[in-house]
Amino acid sequence: SPFTQRDYSDAAKRAIARAPALFIDNAWVASTHGATIPIIDPSNAREIGRFVDASDADVDRAVAAARRAFDDGRWTTLRPLDRERCIHRLADLIEAHADEFSELEAIDNGMPKGMAAAADIPSAIDMLRYMAGWATKISSETTLPASLPVGAYHAYVRREAVGVAALIAPWNFPLVMATLKIAPALAAGCTVVLKPAEQTSLTALRLGDLIAEAGFPAGVVNIVTGNGHTAGARLTTHPDVDKIAFTGSTEIGKVINRAATDTLKHVTLELGGKSPVVILPDADLEAAGAGAAGAIFFNAGQICVAGSRIYAHRDVFDRVLEQVSEQAAFWSPRASLDPAGHMGPVVSQDQFERVMAYIDDGKKAGASVAIGGGSLGSEGYYIEPTVLVDVKPQMRVVQEEIFGPVVVAQRFDDLDEVARQANDSAFGLGASIWTKDLSAMHRLAGKIKAGTVWGNCHSVIDPAMPFGGYKQSGLGREHGRPGVEAYTELKSVIVQL
Ligand code: ADP
Repeated sequence: SPFTQRDYSDAAKRAIARAPALFIDNAWVASTHGATIPIIDPSNAREIGRFVDASDADVDRAVAAARRAFDDGRWTTLRPLDRERCIHRLADLIEAHADEFSELEAIDNGMPKGMAAAADIPSAIDMLRYMAGWATKISSETTLPASLPVGAYHAYVRREAVGVAALIAPWNFPLVMATLKIAPALAAGCTVVLKPAEQTSLTALRLGDLIAEAGFPAGVVNIVTGNGHTAGARLTTHPDVDKIAFTGSTEIGKVINRAATDTLKHVTLELGGKSPVVILPDADLEAAGAGAAGAIFFNAGQICVAGSRIYAHRDVFDRVLEQVSEQAAFWSPRASLDPAGHMGPVVSQDQFERVMAYIDDGKKAGASVAIGGGSLGSEGYYIEPTVLVDVKPQMRVVQEEIFGPVVVAQRFDDLDEVARQANDSAFGLGASIWTKDLSAMHRLAGKIKAGTVWGNCHSVIDPAMPFGGYKQSGLGREHGRPGVEAYTELKSVIVQL
C-alpha cells in the first residue's frame, strides 16, 4: 500500500535512539527531570522514540551557557573570517550527511524523503552559506553629526551583536527553520538557544553533533527540546535572553510578543498566511494550474506561504479547476520514505483533526468539494489534496489559515476587484499572480499587501530576498541584510575632540 512506511536506515535508528538529550556547551546532557515527549512517525502514527521535554532548569542551563559564551567574547571577538569559516563548515557537514538529514526529516515531519533531499536540505545549506558571508560584511553608516560643530567631535556608529538569541522553530520545515535562524544570528555574533518544535526535533538534534565538529566554541549554539508552553515560554521571559526569533502560528506569535514585552526583548515573528493565487484570463493555464496545485499541495499545504486562496478570472475559472484536478493524482499522499511520493501525511494527529474539521466546517457553511475532501489509509495522517468551491468571503475556510492540503477557489471579474479580494485577509505573507500581461502584473504587485509577491511562480524563496509578513503575518524581515541586522544593535559613539 502507498501508506506502508519502509524500514529506517541504521543511521536514522541511531539518531532516534539517542534523541532524548539536550545539547548545551557543546556536550550532550540529560534533563534535570524525566519528562519526555513522544516522537511519532506521521506515516503510520507509531511512536518511534522520545524527546526530552526540557524543564525550566534545563532551559536556564542552556541560556546560562549562551550568556557566558556571549559575555566572555569567545564568539563575538573571534575574527569575523573565523566565524564565517565555522558557519561554512557547518554547511559542509550537513551536505556530507544530506541523505541522513533527508531521511530524518521524512520520518519526523512526514514530508517525502525525495522532497527533503531536493528542496529542504539544500535550502538549509544555501542559507548557511549565504549568511556566513555576512559575518565579514556587517556594517553601519556613520554620518556627520547635524547639530555639532564640524571638526569638534568624532562621532561614529557601531553595529554590535544583540546578545543571546532564543530561536523558536515550527515543525513544517524543521531543518530549514533552524538554520534560517541560526545562520544570521551566528553571522551577527550572537550566541543562541534553539528550541525546535516538539513534533519534529530530530534534525535539530542531529545538528548538535555537527556544531561541535564544525569548530564552534562551547556555548555558542545550544539546543533544547521541549513543549512550547513550558520550555518555549521560559525562553520568552528569561531575563538573559536579548532577542526572540519565532516562526509559527499567528496565535502563538501574539502570545510570544506579549511575553517578551516585560523584558522588552527584540522580537522577529514570521507567522501565518492565507496567500492568494491570482490567475488572470491571459495566463498560461497549464502552468498556472500546476503552479496553483504546487502552491497548496507542496508539503501537504503545511507552509506559511501556501497558496490557499485561488482567485481565477471568471472566463478561465473552470479550466483552472480542470488543470488543478489533473494535478491531484501527482500529489496523492504516500508514506514519506516511498520514493514515488510527492506529498506525505500531515505532521500529527492534532493537525490531521484540525484540517479535517476545516473541511467539514466549509461543507457545513455551504462550500462544495470539487476535488478530494477525505482522509486516506487506516493508520497515518493522510489527507487528500482538496479544493473547495462555492465559498463566500467570510467563511472560516476562506479567512483562516488551515495549514493543510486544502485550497478555496473563487472567481473575479476585474483587477481592482481581485486586489480587494486578495487583501480581504488578516494576513499578508505571500501572493502569486499568473499572467503574461506585464503591466497588470506590476500594477497588482503594487496593490497586494504581502511581504512577497510572485509572478508566474509561487513559494520561491531566496536567502538574499527579504522574507516576512504584512499585517498579522509577522513583524520584521528575515533573509538578506535586514535578516542579519535583526540580530544587531546600533551604538552611537560621540567623542569631543
Ligand atoms: P504550529 O501552530 O505551527 O504548531 P506553534 O505556533 O504552535 O506552531 O508552535 C511553533 C513553535 O512555538 C514550537 O516550537 C512551539 O513549541 C513553540 N511554542 C508554542 N507555544 C509557545 C509559547 N507559549 N511560548 C513559546 N513558544 C511556544
